[in-house]
Amino acid sequence: MSLPRYLTKSRFKLACECPAKLYYTGKKKEYKDNKIDDPFLEALAEGGFQVGELAKLYHPGGVNIDELDFEKSLEQTNKLLERDKVIIYEAAFRFENLFVRADVIVKDGNSVDLIEVKAKSYDAEKDADFLGSKGYIASAWSPYLYDVAFQKYVLTHARPDFHVRSFLMLASKNSCASVDGLNQRFMLVKDKRGRTGVKLNGPCDPDSLGDTILVKVSADHAAEMIYEGSDTNKPPDMSFIERVRLFSDMYARDEKIVTKPGAFCKDCEFNATSDDEAKGFLSGFKECWKEAFGLDDADFNKPMILDIWNFRRKDDLLENEKLFISDVTENDMNITSSDGPGLSSSERQWLQVEKIQKKDPSPYLDRGGLERAMKSWKYPLHFIDFETSMVAIPFNSGRRPYEVIAFQFSHHTVQEDGTIAHAGEYINRSQGMFPNYDFLRHLKKELENDNGTIFRYAAHENTVLNQIHDQLEAETADQVPDRDELMAFIESITTKKNASKIVWDSPRTMIDMRQLVLDFYYSPNMGGSNSIKKVLPAVLNESDYLKQKYSCPIYGSADGIPSLNYRDKVWIEFNGSQVKDPYKTLPPVFDGIDDELLERFVTDKNIADGGAAMMAYARMQFSEMSEVERKQIVAALLRYCELDTFAMVMIYEHWVNECNGK
Ligand code: SF4
Repeated sequence: MSLPRYLTKSRFKLACECPAKLYYTGKKKEYKDNKIDDPFLEALAEGGFQVGELAKLYHPGGVNIDELDFEKSLEQTNKLLERDKVIIYEAAFRFENLFVRADVIVKDGNSVDLIEVKAKSYDAEKDADFLGSKGYIASAWSPYLYDVAFQKYVLTHARPDFHVRSFLMLASKNSCASVDGLNQRFMLVKDKRGRTGVKLNGPCDPDSLGDTILVKVSADHAAEMIYEGSDTNKPPDMSFIERVRLFSDMYARDEKIVTKPGAFCKDCEFNATSDDEAKGFLSGFKECWKEAFGLDDADFNKPMILDIWNFRRKDDLLENEKLFISDVTENDMNITSSDGPGLSSSERQWLQVEKIQKKDPSPYLDRGGLERAMKSWKYPLHFIDFETSMVAIPFNSGRRPYEVIAFQFSHHTVQEDGTIAHAGEYINRSQGMFPNYDFLRHLKKELENDNGTIFRYAAHENTVLNQIHDQLEAETADQVPDRDELMAFIESITTKKNASKIVWDSPRTMIDMRQLVLDFYYSPNMGGSNSIKKVLPAVLNESDYLKQKYSCPIYGSADGIPSLNYRDKVWIEFNGSQVKDPYKTLPPVFDGIDDELLERFVTDKNIADGGAAMMAYARMQFSEMSEVERKQIVAALLRYCELDTFAMVMIYEHWVNECNGK
C-alpha cells in the first residue's frame, strides 16, 4: 500500500530551501541524494534527541505517541485531546494534505501550547525575539520559525476550536546546569528495529534535573510576520499560504516546482558524480541546470562559476547567463589589491579563474612574501591542532549549554636544523568529565618551555582558547587554583578582539597557516577550497622533495621522525601518477562511513575540518559502547589529529624547500 503524499514539516523545510527539492526527495533509488539519512548520526551531531527527551521531562506526565502510522497516530491524538487537560508528545495533526507531529502539546481547556524543541543555543540578550537589527527575522532563526509557523498553521486549521500559542524551546546560553552528570542521563541507543532513541540513566524527576537549562520563547509574533510576509526585506512573490498550497499540491501530484537555479545550488544534495551516474543514479542538479540553461551532458565537465572560492557575485553572473569559469572576465571580478601582504580575496579568485582559463596546472607561490613572513618566525616551531565539541546538555554542574569542550590536541615541533618530532598530544578518554582545564595544563606544559612560533590552521584554536579564558574568568581560585597562570598563558599565545577592538594581542600570538596559504600559495589542485585536507594532497603532488622523503618508512621509525601513533609509516603512495591523499589512506573514524560525509553533519563552520572527530567524541560520550570499541575510536582520533599537525609540517617543509631552492 502506498503511503499518502503528505506535506510534512521536514518536507516543508526542504521546500523552503528550494521548492524543486520536493520532487527529488524520497526517491533514493532513482536520484542521488547525498544527505545521509541517519537519525543516529544526526542525533550525535545535533544532540536533538537528548534535548527532546529533556523537554519532555520538563513537561512531566505527558503521553507519548510513538505510532508511526499516520492514521493511527491521528486517532490516538484525537482521543487524547478529548481530555480537558493533557500533555502529548509527538501529537499528530492533519489539515488537508498537510501533516505534522508536534514535539510537545500542552492542552488546558481550549488553550493549546504548541512547543517545538530544538537543540539550538539561545541567548536572551542577543537573540531576544529572533529579529535582526532591521526588525526582520534574523536569517539564522528563519528555518526554525518557518517550521513552527507551519505547524501552527496546520494545528489551527485542523482544530479551529483551539486557541493556539506557539513556542520554540531552546538550549539557554544564559542558564547553568546545577547538577553534575545531566548529559549522561540521556544515552543515545538504537532499538532492535534500528530506530534511534534515548535511554534514561539515573534519576529523572523534575527535582533531580536541577535548574532548567531549556528556555521556552514565544514564536507567535514571528509566525504572524511570516503569515503576513513582513519577515524579510525581500517580500516573497507568494504569500505563506500560497506557498504552502503550492508545495502541498505539487508534492501530492509528484510534480516538480521548476525553480531558477542560483548560487545556492552549490550544496545541492541531489548532485550525482560521474561514478554515481555510472551506477545508474540520476542527477537532480543536472536536470535543473539543463532545463534552466539548455545545457547538455558535456557542459557539466567544464568548471562552473559555483566553484570559485568565496565569490559573492555568482548570482549576478548567472543572471547574465555566465555559468562557466571560461566565461568570466576581469571586469566581472571587481579586482582590488590587498592592504596587507600577499593576495587580496579578489586577486586570489582571479588567480583561480585565470589558471583554469589558461589551462595552467602550475602552482602559485609568492616566494618573496613568504620569505618576509618567515623572517619573523622563531625556532623551535610548534604546530598545533585542537579537536573540540559543543553539547546542548552540560556534563557538569556550573556549565552552560553549548560551551566549548576541548577534548584533544596534537603538537609537532620543527627545530632550526630541520629536526621534526610529534612532540605531544592530549585526549580526554573519560566520560562526562569537563576536560578544558586539564587540556590547557597539558598544552601549557608543552608550549611554555621556549618562545618558538606557534602555528594553527584557521581561527579555531584562537577562538577556543579565548572561550576557555572566559570560562576561567568565571571561576574562583578555590575552584581552579592555577586559574591566573592558565589565563596568563592563554593571553601569551592568542589575540582577543571585542567588536573589532583589540583586547590583547600577544607578540607570540599563534600564526594562522591558512592565512599564509590565502596570502602566498595557490594550487589548481585545491580548486575552490583552502581546507588543509585539500592543501596537503596538492602540496604532496607538487613537491618532489616531499615525495622522495616520505616514500621511505621514516615516520615513526627508530632513527627517523618520532611519532606517538605511527610506526614506520610511509606517507607517499601513488594512484597512477597521483599521490594518494594521506587522509584517505587512514581507516575511517566511524566504521564504514566516510569522514567527508560525517563533516556534513556538523553545521558549525568554526569546527571546520574536525567534524568526524567531534562526532566520534560524541559517540564515546553519549552512546553505549564496549571498551574495545572505545579504544579503537581513541586510537583513530589520535592518528587523525597527529596527521592534522603533521600536514602543517609538510606544507611548511614544502614552502621552505621551494624558497631555498628558488
Ligand atoms: S539544483 Fe538547485 S534548483 Fe535544482 S534542486 Fe538543487 S538546489 Fe534546487
